[in-house]
Amino acid sequence: MTAGQQQQKLENHDEVLLELNNVKKYFPIRSGVFQKKIGHVKAVDGLSFSLKRGETLGIVGESGCGKSTAGRTMMRLYKPTAGQILFKGCDISELSEDKLRKNIRKNIQMVFQDPFASLNPRKTLRSIIQEPFRTHHLFHSKERSEKVEELLQRVGLHPSFANRYPHEFSGGQRQRIGIARALALNPELIIADEPVSALDVSIQAQVINLMEELQEEFHLTYLFISHDLSVVRHISDRVGVMYLGKMMELTDKHELYDNPLHPYTEALLSAVPVTRKKGSVKRERIILKGELPSPANPPKGCVFHTRCPAAKAVCREKEPNFKEVNRGHYVACHLYE
Ligand code: SF4
Repeated sequence: MTAGQQQQKLENHDEVLLELNNVKKYFPIRSGVFQKKIGHVKAVDGLSFSLKRGETLGIVGESGCGKSTAGRTMMRLYKPTAGQILFKGCDISELSEDKLRKNIRKNIQMVFQDPFASLNPRKTLRSIIQEPFRTHHLFHSKERSEKVEELLQRVGLHPSFANRYPHEFSGGQRQRIGIARALALNPELIIADEPVSALDVSIQAQVINLMEELQEEFHLTYLFISHDLSVVRHISDRVGVMYLGKMMELTDKHELYDNPLHPYTEALLSAVPVTRKKGSVKRERIILKGELPSPANPPKGCVFHTRCPAAKAVCREKEPNFKEVNRGHYVACHLYE
């Protein structure tokens, strides 16, 4: 998709579907016989952004940066420790499981990284894909069966596969089954957590193409979580970069890949092999020093300062604000304050 087409797509879809205001998810660390609480893992630490209807927002970052926890918190598999999650303007952060099931679960579905682990090996595809219908008391048994076959067909699998078991399928086919199950309730938002990282490159492309087709056909909005910047670049309209539970940079994908502002984004992009266009600037590889700090004990000030090649004295003391520095381009860095 060209920059112009993408801009048009975003302008066509300016209704905010999901909004996060300073969302945090901390997990307690317990120790000793009495399991006394001795601290917290700050998996998600103050995320604020919105997702427009019809767009694909990619979230990237190293393993352990909190992107999967963020996805699970957004769909309320986890209750946020603090902050607000608004789905179509309705605050879902405090809703009980019962209310979530009645009003929200149908509209937000998830596609997981490991389709085999998320599909019950003892159940047929018919039973797996029908399960959301049973949970939400939708359709009679004949209709459910027909719907399953329609869904299988729509994700590129033969309807006769409905009576087979997950182990009879390849990784790519199993991910298609996971997508069919996510589509069953006709959701508005799909959170895809590393949906292609367990697949071979050629299969990855097929699954991504399928997701793009389905997005158009079913008017879906995607939150696409991945550690792979090339995959995210392909499918996303906008991309957010996370580090230690915080958003470092968020903007339109062309802007992010052509004009990254945050030193962490620059380092991540410098490690991606690129096919260079004639006249384009070659990116020097930036090697980050040290390891990702523990989210149980994140650095004071800017959480990236222990590895940042551009760190200044202020970075060790004061946390930078996540703010808009160009239209639609948000960065958390003192270099832009
Ligand atoms: Fe680097 Fe400072 Fe910017 Fe953090 S605030 S990314 S340490 S320059």
